[in-house]
Amino acid sequence: MPHLTWTGFWVLGDKHSLFRDGTEAVPYRFKSCPTVTPLPHPASRTPRSLRSIMRERLSVPFFSLLQETGELAERRRVSVYAVGGFVRDLLLGIPNVDLDLVVEGHGIRFAKDLARQYKARVTPHERFGTATVTFPDGHTFDIATARSESYDAPAALPRVRRGSIKEDLCRRDFTINTLAIRLNAPRFGELVDHHGGRRDLKDKTIRVLHGLSFVDDPTRVFRAIRFEQRLGFHLHRDTAVLLTETAKMGLVRSLSPSRLSGELLHVLSEREPGKTLARLADFNLLHFIHAQLKWSAGLARLLDTVKQAITWHAGLSLGRLASPWVVYAMALLDVLPHPAVQETLARLTFPRRHTQSLLWVSQESARLLQTLDRTAKPSEMFRALCNLPDETLVFLMAKARSTQGKQNISDQITTYRRVGSILNGNDLKAMGLKPGPLYNRILDRLLDARVDGTVETEANERRLVRRMVK
Ligand code: ATP
Repeated sequence: MPHLTWTGFWVLGDKHSLFRDGTEAVPYRFKSCPTVTPLPHPASRTPRSLRSIMRERLSVPFFSLLQETGELAERRRVSVYAVGGFVRDLLLGIPNVDLDLVVEGHGIRFAKDLARQYKARVTPHERFGTATVTFPDGHTFDIATARSESYDAPAALPRVRRGSIKEDLCRRDFTINTLAIRLNAPRFGELVDHHGGRRDLKDKTIRVLHGLSFVDDPTRVFRAIRFEQRLGFHLHRDTAVLLTETAKMGLVRSLSPSRLSGELLHVLSEREPGKTLARLADFNLLHFIHAQLKWSAGLARLLDTVKQAITWHAGLSLGRLASPWVVYAMALLDVLPHPAVQETLARLTFPRRHTQSLLWVSQESARLLQTLDRTAKPSEMFRALCNLPDETLVFLMAKARSTQGKQNISDQITTYRRVGSILNGNDLKAMGLKPGPLYNRILDRLLDARVDGTVETEANERRLVRRMVK
């Protein structure tokens, strides 16, 4: 039985020599699908039907849609499988309707057939052999052609060709993500488990498929930790060794800024990013975000307070915060000096408007928080906060120390932002005022007066306008 040993050296351009599988060097990328610790597992020998679990855990329409997809596959003489996170979460009892389908055959053609049957919209991505089908109710299926990757030489680009489901599953990150469910009518619900994914789900284990998995794709380092923390699993011993060594070798540094940003965004979008970030710190992975970024009790507390502030905001029923991850990003960067925040954000490829909020918070929030601690006219606080996005306000809520500061932010979110003057530009025109910069001054003044409660009716507003232009 091959057993992984770590040779502990790394020669750039000679990835072959990185690991040993028994006594032989693992032929990097040439081996069809090497396994780190290949254990026999009953699921791979005796196909198991998940039909009853699917019926029990999926809604009736969704279950029927999967069945009908399998019937269509049978008619079109292709094999179709549900794969990845959907299957993993189904078995764990976690609701997840993000469905990825893999087709042994022509994925895009099947997607078009499916879309036709349901009057759905199909968006093909010819280059990748994938397509997204959007059903009339807004639900989407991602459909891919099963593929295999082979390499002519080390470090060469992979040659991608159509493959079997087995080959497709070989390309994946962790055993728990290699599970597939056959949808074709006669064997609907049959579990495909070539890598012991079911066993690892039961044992709560995150395990890579082969010794070079993290080298092949260092984003898996972040993914491993994310799944570990999200699901309350543990890293398999070999996987933990590989991850530690990958982190030590600095392979994460080879990720492009956009891939690193994507991974960080996924981490910050977890339900409890604090746990995932703490674990990244255990593996010394935070410094890939910025050399000065360190885990601390203070950061842990701030992330926790941010979580409470987000929960508070959600409880206000004002609509969901569009990007909670940005609030966690503000907390993460809060421990860095401003120049380091600038460097970090210059490298990461976060959406522009969020980058601007993050920069603003890093530079201005301390000063603003001092202002908010004061008791002042509501309009003064309104003016200080009125142009800030919700994410920034929620972060300020988490940072505010004084009751007064918290009250001011809360008033802004719950009340003042909803206030508007009764009169508008047309009314000012009807009152005989000449359009120009004066309009803005008047409308701002009316708004301030409403926030302060000094005008209540339209007549009050008209009187105030007349006083202003006298
Ligand atoms: P999530 O719940 O976070 O969306 P997911 O497993 O659905 O988890 P996706 O990022 O949507 O994650 O990926 C879908 C599937 O594609 C995964 O289950 C996995 O099989 C495969 N996959 C994704 N990223 C990688 C990767 N970097 N390397 C190998 N396989 C990957």
